Amino acid sequence: MIDVPGIFASNVFNDEKMRVRLTQEVYDSYRESIENGTPLDIKVANDVADAMKEWAIEKGCTHYTHWFQPMTGITAEKHDSFISPHADGHVIMEFSGKELIKGEPDASSFPSGGIRATFEARGYTTWDPTSPAFVKDNTLCIPTAFMSYTGDVLDKKTPLLRSMNRINHESVRILHLFGKTDVTRVDATVGPEQEYFLIDKDVYERRKDLKYTGRTLFGARSPKGQQLDDHYFGAIKQRVKAFMAELDEELWKLGIYAKTEHNEVAPAQHELAPIFTTVNIAADHNQLTMELMKRIARKHGMVCLLHEKPFKGVNGSGKHNNWSLSTNTGENLLKPGKKPEENTQFLLFLTAVITAVDEYQDLLRLSVATAGNDHRMGGDEAPPFIISMFLGDDLEAIVEAIINREEYESQGKVVMNTGAETLPEIRKDTTDRNRTSPFAFTGNKFEFRSLGSALNISCPNIMLNTMVADVLSSFSDELENAADFDAAVRRLIRKNLKKHRRIIFNGDGYTDEWVTEAEQRGLLNLTSTPEALKKYTLKKNLDLFKRNSIFNETEVKARQEILLENYIKIIDLEALTMLDMAKKDIFPAVSAFTGELAETIRGKRAVSDDIRVDAEVKLLSKLSDLLSQFSDKIDELDSKVGGSIAYRKNIQSHAEYCCNEMLSTMSELRAISDEMEMCTDSKHWPYPSYGQLLFSV
Ligand code: ADP
Ligand code: MG
Repeated sequence: MIDVPGIFASNVFNDEKMRVRLTQEVYDSYRESIENGTPLDIKVANDVADAMKEWAIEKGCTHYTHWFQPMTGITAEKHDSFISPHADGHVIMEFSGKELIKGEPDASSFPSGGIRATFEARGYTTWDPTSPAFVKDNTLCIPTAFMSYTGDVLDKKTPLLRSMNRINHESVRILHLFGKTDVTRVDATVGPEQEYFLIDKDVYERRKDLKYTGRTLFGARSPKGQQLDDHYFGAIKQRVKAFMAELDEELWKLGIYAKTEHNEVAPAQHELAPIFTTVNIAADHNQLTMELMKRIARKHGMVCLLHEKPFKGVNGSGKHNNWSLSTNTGENLLKPGKKPEENTQFLLFLTAVITAVDEYQDLLRLSVATAGNDHRMGGDEAPPFIISMFLGDDLEAIVEAIINREEYESQGKVVMNTGAETLPEIRKDTTDRNRTSPFAFTGNKFEFRSLGSALNISCPNIMLNTMVADVLSSFSDELENAADFDAAVRRLIRKNLKKHRRIIFNGDGYTDEWVTEAEQRGLLNLTSTPEALKKYTLKKNLDLFKRNSIFNETEVKARQEILLENYIKIIDLEALTMLDMAKKDIFPAVSAFTGELAETIRGKRAVSDDIRVDAEVKLLSKLSDLLSQFSDKIDELDSKVGGSIAYRKNIQSHAEYCCNEMLSTMSELRAISDEMEMCTDSKHWPYPSYGQLLFSV
């Protein structure tokens, strides 16, 4: 038995350790600057750095690193040792406040979308003191933000921290209008549920597509897939159990609240849910969780696939982003309470979220847009591309009651408190039935389900925090000078619910009727990454980011460019991998098998004309036809890959070309191959089948 409380956060330099290792005076002034967001005094920084270093050395560290999240989506580290030469030729272990607060990694190889001129490759990392330092691989890791020499943001943490400030400020402002002056801070809280696949390492090694691109580019369906749903919450296999036990232990040491682990619907698929925490910490923790999943799987002879759609026809992997707002006084602002219809404060926050999601559907959609997630969305339990909100029957009835009462208002009747009073108390289990909704209210939080499994959760949360803060800000402006606050709040709620009710949808998001209806409602249906990313630079979005000091125009454009470039690179790599597999492995295999069939036919015929060869002839003829089509498709894809040169100058049209021209040819090539796989001797097929992949552990 492991001593969980004993190991929990043992690898984290958390508040408790600071209190023990710093003098009261230094600790107090450190806390004060964190709480007020003021710069650390250099003397305090020196003492904190020293205490951190002593602790890290006790844990066996020799190096430290500024751990940051560049636009690549993964985390980056540049390790420096603590050693410092001493006059007499010895070395001492040193770590100053300056080194703690600021780093200067050579940033030239991180994507910057043209922000960082090549002559000025320097970038700066600065400590995020609200996310604690930790030890990993004998290295002290310091969570940091990353920006260019000119101060432009180059990472995912800086805008997240800025958006947290905004949502904090605007929520507090609203709460003060409600008379809650004891509230001094509001945090966005997030619990990301992480899905992933585990497959055997030896089987993985034999699939070029998985190795190069993270997903299978070819592969016929296995006779047994997920049709029996017998994997879901089924008994966890021994090897997976050992992996989960080690993962939990490592996560706990890092102070990550890994809570539940279970099998998912698809074979070989699993999920890990942590307990929620402040969003910047949740983002850091989720990055660490993904990293550890990959590493620990290897130790157990498996590979962890974080791709959003590793297998065609099988559920993909997502990441449910549970989001809420919580005050320093311990109140969850999205908790409806027993009588939500009378809880105007809750209804106001609910209305703010509804308004924001409707006005900035495009930003939510593009915040989850990646080449991989495009394959996942729109089917097999993943949300559709159209962003809509699910409130559950109870809340929706309240919203409808509020909207419909408006008729009566002109006659001077009470608006919100009547009529809805007979509604039952919100129960959690009545609110989570719609598994396909992109944005669902689940009792006391919203669950944004469109995120792909590999995504850094910062981006969707930057959007959420910013857009809700912006709406709250306009609400405060309107309410601040109201003569009758209560009446003004009610009017505001009703007005906005009425205006934005189109975003609420409780039905089945997969039907054609919904696509038609959503279009009539004026909702966006952005079915590809290039189409979604195009919206990043719409004026209303640039204005939003500017108004809230999240990004300037250059930064938004840079981000758009980086994401488009990334999309293009992925499709290119996939196409090249397919061509390689098709030409070097699949074509020769089928050709060899058909040659063997021809040999057999010839042999049988030589024995006697009475021996039937029609079965072999039929198969030979079918495969030869397919092989000839396959060869033509290879040529077509080859020329499409070459044809992309024409688009090199315009990144948007280049990405659209990849999406509209290349992906379709790739899927046609795959379809032919998959059909050939179904009728080729498995001895000849060059790759492990879907059955072998999905049931390999
Ligand atoms: P559900 O049954 O709706 O999935 P759970 O209680 O299992 O709800 O929680 C799912 C995830 O939501 C967990 O990661 C949990 O920590 C997170 N969560 C719960 N409450 C909040 C909250 N107030 N803010 C953010 N995330 C939350
Ligand atoms: Mg969930």
